[in-house]
Amino acid sequence: MSKILIVEDEEAIADLEKDYLELSGFEVEIENRGDTGLDKALNDDYDLLILDLMLPEVDGFEICRQVREKKDMPIIMVSAKKDDIDKIRGLGLGADDYITKPFSPSEMVARVKAHLARYDRLIGSGQKVNDVIEIRGIKIDKTARRVWVNGEEKQFTTKEFDLLTFLAENPNHVFTKEELFREIWDMESIGDIATVTVHIKKIREKIEFNTAKPQYIETIWGVGYRFKA
Ligand code: CA
Repeated sequence: MSKILIVEDEEAIADLEKDYLELSGFEVEIENRGDTGLDKALNDDYDLLILDLMLPEVDGFEICRQVREKKDMPIIMVSAKKDDIDKIRGLGLGADDYITKPFSPSEMVARVKAHLARYDRLIGSGQKVNDVIEIRGIKIDKTARRVWVNGEEKQFTTKEFDLLTFLAENPNHVFTKEELFREIWDMESIGDIATVTVHIKKIREKIEFNTAKPQYIETIWGVGYRFKA
């Protein structure tokens, strides 16, 4: 559930906003002073901030500026005066939206939803989810460099992991030992393609139920190997 902080000194407005947002399933807290509002916004976890401009102690300009420096969450600024909105925009404080009082509460809720959705998308693209390959009981987490075979984690050396991952990423593609050697060992070792054979054997011991009848990495006689999808 998304948590919203409202910093608003007009109790009736704050309560109205809270009621509408709670009806839409949000968790809402109200602060009616600028200084306490700033403190909460900086030190507690919220998903969105609704900020009135004229507040006792610390005004909305200052709160917006400080929150923007430290926190990455949508800020909707609310003001009684259209002129103030223009002023806020002009200052480039980094608010995400501006609403002039009086506003309709449902309009407020719609904007809150839109900004939360937009931030989710931004964060979704910023925080990379682990890159995982899953093929018939084998799960390779490329990001964490971990491998599970039928739910059981197996340990792989760096090169074994690279080789397995490369094959699994290119299923049903037959690679020669030379190609695999170039791909995985690159320029760092002077070629001995028998290394590939040795590594394939070790990988099979970890992933295959019966290494004599491989279900994953097949030998294509006279050519090389392929990962069967
Ligand atoms: Ca006010």
